[in-house]
Amino acid sequence: MPLKRSVTVQKRAIMDSIKIHCLQCYEPQEDIALHLATVCLRDSTDAERAAEVQRAEASARDWIRNPRVWDFRDVCMLLPDRGSQMAMVKELIRLSFLVSNQPHMDPGREAPSSSPTSSSADIIPSHGKK
Ligand SMILES: [Zn+2]
Repeated sequence: MPLKRSVTVQKRAIMDSIKIHCLQCYEPQEDIALHLATVCLRDSTDAERAAEVQRAEASARDWIRNPRVWDFRDVCMLLPDRGSQMAMVKELIRLSFLVSNQPHMDPGREAPSSSPTSSSADIIPSHGKK
């Protein structure tokens, strides 16, 4: 079935294009097998290194399959105060996550639970300013 094969080829290309992180040093690697053989597992056996390559590839696949969307209500359940919630949302957006159910940033209708130190300006993603 040509269609199915082309989808598989595409998936393979995506996996090949992502950098696999070494699960020993947490650094992204162009060639995880070479990296393990020369750096992190240079004193291990070939079988141990092969198992570690599989583990690192499985970890990268899991990460790709995980949903990229966070629900703002989940953030609120994890973090009690508005300042922390908005800092977390800003960081998630910076890391290219999508955040659903974000509160509207209308300054005239701020949620009553917001802390006195936070302002609506805190929650608007900055434009590359750091
Ligand atoms: Zn490493």
